[in-house]
Amino acid sequence: MKNVVFVAPPAAGKGTQSDILVEKYGYNHISTGDLLRAEVASGSELGKDLAEKMQKGMLISDEIVNSLLEKALMDERPFILDGYPRTEKQITYLEEILSRVNREIGVVIYLNVPENIACSRATGRLVCPKCNSVFHKTENKPKVEGICDNCGEALISRSDDTEETFKVRYNTYVENAKPILKYYESNGLLKVIDKINIDEVTSEIEKVIK
Ligand SMILES: [Zn+2]
Repeated sequence: MKNVVFVAPPAAGKGTQSDILVEKYGYNHISTGDLLRAEVASGSELGKDLAEKMQKGMLISDEIVNSLLEKALMDERPFILDGYPRTEKQITYLEEILSRVNREIGVVIYLNVPENIACSRATGRLVCPKCNSVFHKTENKPKVEGICDNCGEALISRSDDTEETFKVRYNTYVENAKPILKYYESNGLLKVIDKINIDEVTSEIEKVIK
């Protein structure tokens, strides 16, 4: 399986597709947010320092993120990189890290979901605060209204998912992603997926990762 860099605006279904690839093909899903949270949870010195910075809303340095990323990329399973690179500088960091661990990107996948569809998904989204499962008020209803199928916890809607704030988040993301996409298009790694339906997106992804 090819190593994947996943780029997608919020609510494009990146999490769902990542879960499918992990389950079906044994991918190692690497998200820099998860790496930071795992380091905090480990209780290490670095974790304590990170917890303090995150609490104060301070930016985490590239150096720290990169070192956690490098460690995660030493795992031999094929990887899905999620949420990185986000800047042109990080494109360069990633190339340096990959060459150190002797690996390469097989494909960069962009899930091109239009703003109105992403918005309706996001604003109807229900999240389980305990196990992080995601449901939707109309598209992917939990079996019992308001209750997580997996662990029975009461579901919440994320407070930042109002229509207005979502649109800002979406457009900011798309704007910032432009140079990243342009770069990976220029070196032939970019694959844009325009499908919306979850199964169709999965089958498009399967065509490019094998
Ligand atoms: Zn749950």
